[in-house]
Amino acid sequence: VKISKSYKLASRDFHPDDTVIDIRGVKIGGGNLVIMGGPCAVESPEQIDEIARLVKASGAQVLRGGAFKPRTGPYSFQGVGVEGLTMMQEAGRRHGLLTITEVMTPEYVDICAEHADILQVGTRNMQNFDLLRKLGTCGRPVLLKRGFSATYDELLNAAEYILAGGNKDVMLCERGVRTFETYTRNTLDLAAIPALQSLSHLPVISDPSHGTGRRELVEPMSKASVAAGADGLIIEMHTDPDNSMTGDGVQSLFPDQFHNLVQDLGRLAPLV
Ligand code: PEP
Ligand code: MN
Repeated sequence: VKISKSYKLASRDFHPDDTVIDIRGVKIGGGNLVIMGGPCAVESPEQIDEIARLVKASGAQVLRGGAFKPRTGPYSFQGVGVEGLTMMQEAGRRHGLLTITEVMTPEYVDICAEHADILQVGTRNMQNFDLLRKLGTCGRPVLLKRGFSATYDELLNAAEYILAGGNKDVMLCERGVRTFETYTRNTLDLAAIPALQSLSHLPVISDPSHGTGRRELVEPMSKASVAAGADGLIIEMHTDPDNSMTGDGVQSLFPDQFHNLVQDLGRLAPLV
């Protein structure tokens, strides 16, 4: 198989040692397992605070939640916006968790970087090159999701944009790709985990929630991701999935399921 290797900074040839991203003592990459959990969307201060409490109690280290939501249709709930950033920052602080949130446009990078510890690039924006360039100088680690029809080479070139701007702290995220299968929302490409780790030194995070779109598949695919060598997981959890404000309730774990899963995962690999 011919690989273009047009990327350089993202390549393991260039940087043989695993990148370890240290965020206030939480080390991501290099054999540790980081778990990020929380709702698809930040909905209210009470919602995110209660979920943060549960995420912390489970043993996970990072609170996820979208304030800006990249919805397929323009009439769907688009997220609570800037106020959501503050709600999440406060919940993270109160419960001693790092936070991760999605940023969709270059104009919002600075404000997201002010309020969150990690910035997420969604699958639909993997090749938003202006956004990637801006993230090269944002001063925060970035979790870059694989485009839902992107090759490994395209993902690594997207990471290269961020690295080339001077930001060394990039995580790659496998979140499922589009295939002919309709039972699952996407097909979680487990082979991407070891393949990306061999091509690149960057930590690889798996997203079994968007990767399957089905709650009952999240636990087995989380464990499979860890068996495949994932450096971390990003998992949706909600206290009331049936009434969540995005359609992602169907893939969100209930709090007790999330708790038990994190406990099980901690027995498979050391939590950071
Ligand atoms: C999300 O994490 O809620 C999300 C929108 O993810 P993706 O970009 O993978 O669809
Ligand atoms: Mn979601």
